[in-house]
Amino acid sequence: MLKQIVMFNRRIINKILRRTMVGGLALFLAACASVQTTSSGVVGIDRKQYMSGLVSGESLSLEASQQYSSLMSQARAQGALDNNPAQTKRVQTIARNLINHVSAFRPDASSWKWEVHLLDSNEVNAWCMPGGKMAVYTGLINAIKPTDDELAAVIGHEIAHALREHSREQVSQQMAAGIGLSVLAAITGSSATADLGAQLNEVMFALPNSRSHEAEADRIGVELAARAGYDPRAALTLWKKMEALGGSRPPELLSTHPSPASRMSEISAAAERVMPIYKQAVKR
Ligand SMILES: [Zn+2]
Repeated sequence: MLKQIVMFNRRIINKILRRTMVGGLALFLAACASVQTTSSGVVGIDRKQYMSGLVSGESLSLEASQQYSSLMSQARAQGALDNNPAQTKRVQTIARNLINHVSAFRPDASSWKWEVHLLDSNEVNAWCMPGGKMAVYTGLINAIKPTDDELAAVIGHEIAHALREHSREQVSQQMAAGIGLSVLAAITGSSATADLGAQLNEVMFALPNSRSHEAEADRIGVELAARAGYDPRAALTLWKKMEALGGSRPPELLSTHPSPASRMSEISAAAERVMPIYKQAVKR
């Protein structure tokens, strides 16, 4: 099951690529547009995103929700779903409190079919699929022993990836790389490598790297937490705990969430910025 989850993004991307690669370059270029997935919030998210019109947010959410159903059925069959009622309730309550504030970034997300479950797994991991299907692993709870504020930080971060449609952006990049590759091969008559296609893509669209996705998820997550009345500074202690686990077997979450030194100062600055919101929220 774990491997399937890890493979989730790659599988969705490949499936969509197979369905849409027939579109061709002209269609791709015509269909690729700068979009605004979220408003900038107090934390000031203003990076331009380029999405292919060939893959809609709806189609990606639909794929995600099918994958999610099947994953949850498997987890249930293996007796690995929501086994700890108290922790499940805790995770679902915190997630709900955060989801109540997603409209600060995008109003349509309030009506997404959000879902969150607690999966039995030793992995230190949590994720949110496109469209709002989430999981938190017991491994994260057991290893990190997060406070509610820290749990809100990690769930808020994952929610932010979905709000910004980072997966869809990734798919768009893959498509650009793939199509750029085939065009290059046609022009030069050579069998271009994937590297070349990726480079061409980068030059053509100057697409951001995943570091920018992580930075955005950090900042939006921090603001969501503050709005929901969770201490935004807990993001700092959360990631410090995560890194302290490191050692010979770093947490799964860190392998997909690179954590350079600059990250802590960026999170700290964002947390300071939303402190007034947090203080207001706590008063209510
Ligand atoms: Zn992330």
